[in-house]
Amino acid sequence: MHVTTILAAKGHEVFSIGPDVSVADLIRSLCEHDVGAVLVVDDSDEIVGIVSERDVVRALCANAPALSETVSSIMTREVVTAPDAAEVADLMQLMTKRRIRHVPILSEANDLVGMVSIGDVVKNRMDELEADRSALMDYITHGG
Ligand code: AMP
Repeated sequence: MHVTTILAAKGHEVFSIGPDVSVADLIRSLCEHDVGAVLVVDDSDEIVGIVSERDVVRALCANAPALSETVSSIMTREVVTAPDAAEVADLMQLMTKRRIRHVPILSEANDLVGMVSIGDVVKNRMDELEADRSALMDYITHGG
């Protein structure tokens, strides 16, 4: 199954924030949008990083007054992305290998077309398993 199946179900919206915004405002944004990570984009809408709740926890652990610091001081600059032609299984491997739970998805033309989280991947897998189970039950109950 392709990543596009997930995006078709959840939508293409990707939340972003500026690098000079404070960590306190970042937390507000994560809560408001109910997401675990946002992309960091500059004034020209170029992706300059990604920041997740994990970065906030690390920053607070290292330095309690971190709330007044900027997103750019805690974000990850090397953003791992995946093409929309990727298989969901590839994305699962990528997330496991790189230990990340959020992957921005790019079109063939390199445009941002969505963000897939580990929650989306797990939901997709559960739906697939449920469909398989239901087909098997149907087969057992009604015959092939
Ligand atoms: P997460 O597991 O997604 O909450 O993030 C764990 C760490 O990986 C944090 O430091 C994030 O900034 C970083 N991270 C999350 N997603 C990506 C990504 N797509 N590319 C690069 N780093 C990421």
